[in-house]
Amino acid sequence: MELIVSHSNADMDSLAAMAAASKIYPEAKLVFADSPDPGVRDFLAHYGQWLHLTPLKDIPLHEVKKLIIVDTREARRLGDLRVLIENPEIELHVYDHHPTTYRDIVGDYNCVRQVGSTTTLLIELIQEKKLPVSPEEATLFLAGIYADTGSLSFPRTTASDLNAAAWLLEKGGDLKIVTEHLNRTLSPEQRDLLNRLLLSLQFFQIKDQNFLITKASVSYYANDASLLTQRILDLEKTQAAFSLIQMQGRIFLIARSASKTVNAAAICEEFGGGGHETAASASLKENNLEKVEEKLLLVLKNKIESSDLQQAPQPPQNQQGSQESVETLHLKDWKSVPKAIAELLKEMGKLADDEQINLFVVGGFVRDLMLGIENLDLDLVVEGDGISFAKKMAGVLKADLTIHEPFKTAVLILPDQLRIDLATARSEFYARPAALPEVASTTLKQDLTRRDFSINAMALKLNPNDFGRLIDFFGGQRDLQHGIIRVLHSSSFMDDPTRIFRAIRYEQRYGFHIESHTEKLLKEAIYSGVLSKLSRDRIRNEIILLLSEKNPIPAIQRIGKLKGLSLIHPSLRLSGNSLQILKQIPEVLAAFRETLQIQDHDIWIIYALGLFCQLTPEEIEELLMKWKFPLQDSQKISFLKSNWEKMIHELSHSVPKTPSEIFQKLEKIPSEGLVFCMAYSRNPFLKERIEQYALKFQKMKLFLSGEDLKALGVQPGPIYKEWLAKVKNEQMDGNIQTREQALEFLKKNLKASAQKKD
Ligand code: ATP
Repeated sequence: MELIVSHSNADMDSLAAMAAASKIYPEAKLVFADSPDPGVRDFLAHYGQWLHLTPLKDIPLHEVKKLIIVDTREARRLGDLRVLIENPEIELHVYDHHPTTYRDIVGDYNCVRQVGSTTTLLIELIQEKKLPVSPEEATLFLAGIYADTGSLSFPRTTASDLNAAAWLLEKGGDLKIVTEHLNRTLSPEQRDLLNRLLLSLQFFQIKDQNFLITKASVSYYANDASLLTQRILDLEKTQAAFSLIQMQGRIFLIARSASKTVNAAAICEEFGGGGHETAASASLKENNLEKVEEKLLLVLKNKIESSDLQQAPQPPQNQQGSQESVETLHLKDWKSVPKAIAELLKEMGKLADDEQINLFVVGGFVRDLMLGIENLDLDLVVEGDGISFAKKMAGVLKADLTIHEPFKTAVLILPDQLRIDLATARSEFYARPAALPEVASTTLKQDLTRRDFSINAMALKLNPNDFGRLIDFFGGQRDLQHGIIRVLHSSSFMDDPTRIFRAIRYEQRYGFHIESHTEKLLKEAIYSGVLSKLSRDRIRNEIILLLSEKNPIPAIQRIGKLKGLSLIHPSLRLSGNSLQILKQIPEVLAAFRETLQIQDHDIWIIYALGLFCQLTPEEIEELLMKWKFPLQDSQKISFLKSNWEKMIHELSHSVPKTPSEIFQKLEKIPSEGLVFCMAYSRNPFLKERIEQYALKFQKMKLFLSGEDLKALGVQPGPIYKEWLAKVKNEQMDGNIQTREQALEFLKKNLKASAQKKD
């Protein structure tokens, strides 16, 4: 069975789009997800008797094989039909004109463009397929277009809407019926409601945005309450108007906005509704108007105050499109990409063409390219047989190849050590020619849909004809422009809690902002303590990656604020004290990094020492075991378990210590521990002693070697080390200053030792 549905509380555009879809899917049944908008009921009663709608209760849902969704892509707006989306057996076809959000359903077929009405998209298909349209149908379709475009006057109206409307007029569409239906004079209930709303008007200003809120509670049901809100907005000329109307056990929120800063859809989304930037609504199972008003004001405050992030120019229209190409990034704009890498990608694109597959570079490389930051991590995705392509690539590039057959992934290491990761876009269509754009886009889309954030879910095509074409299904480019970290779906953090750390890492690295809904989901995931369920290795890697950022302190602070440190260990907190220590690290590191020979990949350990130093030795032990830190790293962090505080105390003492005594103490401490100690303590003696150790003694050249011991007749063995250490101590303390003195010292002591033995 095939079903055509639209969003709950279906409006005229939904009804018209459903009817238009039924021309393309003649076998499909038309069903409302729940009771439609009163305007729709009114239209059906007066002019729509010819339409066949099937009550939802008469549909055996288990028999549905294909679902055609029009005028929405949001599962939560499908009411009880939402279950069908979760069934992978059901084929989904989606037609929608709403802006893209991360919650969007991705269909097997998607026809998505930001035009004035969804009906317009379907009319274009009807024209393409040369399907006949009767005058009644044309009238309904016209009504759908007119309703959603404010009779072709809203700014979102496009040439496509005008063309479709003109064509429908030619097909006998009756404009008189349309305008009569849309501009009916107010009914007595509507007049009463309008009066009540006007009496309750309240004006507000947040930043430079003026808006009004009206509210009313009525015992009757007033049709087209949204019309009233529009009238109030027109009358009062504020930048936005919000009505809260309590009727029939629900509260309806109706939002109209004439301001770019106040996004009506985004506001209604916070109440489980949706719509457009200029017009949106939500229906709430609530009975307390004041409570809803309070929440509305809070939402408005948050949205308007963070509007700097949301106000950046909108992306080009087709960027919102689900499967349309967006833009081509020309090679000359790849400023942050070394020429050799750009050439390599071009070459791989050609090879992909030879193999008749589609090849993309995805993820962090694309993100950083667009930010103008160099990134040499190449993640490629193949639509087609990835493994066979990896083998071809390895041959051409003379690279070492490792294949992970079960995951259809491969890693290539080039002779210059450049690493390329290659993945296969999951697809049942391997055998088909890759040129089919629909199939191709769907498979890549599946790959991108599994990614963490919109900014990491973009791809650039590498095949020569399309080289540099940006594929951006989730508004990644827009989010990069606005500096926003946004998940692709609501269960993202629950599905994979490593993303909690990743979100914070990217946010702080780029000075971005975790989008408010994403932050809410992230907090919920932290609160649920979900981490324990996940692979410890992956979480540990993310902890290490976060601490390895160029400046990890803001990210540590942010996790602290989000109460996420307890995920690492329940007792872990960011006290003022540990923050102060952490803040000292970059400076100490800059001064001692070279002399203490600290490697790039070990710097995180110093921050870990700073972060964990408030824990007890037992807690540190627990933490290291829990996350299975590699032995070598654990040993360095374990330094905190031993009596480091006592050692700091001893080194800080002003009573002179001989250099050799200091050396013996410091020698046992990992270099990362020494940096940590200097960041921890402000004591000048401690710093001086570590400095001396690092600069002078650690690298001191000994006057003698094993050869000298051999020449003096000492039998080789562990004893050599002991004798050389003795010489070194004397040398450090200044008692030996030449090779001769060293030899003399050795001879004398060897003799004394021999005599002792005798
Ligand atoms: P970085 O600069 O931190 O290395 P990156 O984007 O290269 O950033 P990687 O960890 O190498 O990060 O991951 C490569 C890509 O794989 C990401 O851009 C993202 O698309 C995807 N990815 C990585 N980890 C996850 C995850 N936990 N969930 C979903 N997608 C992920």
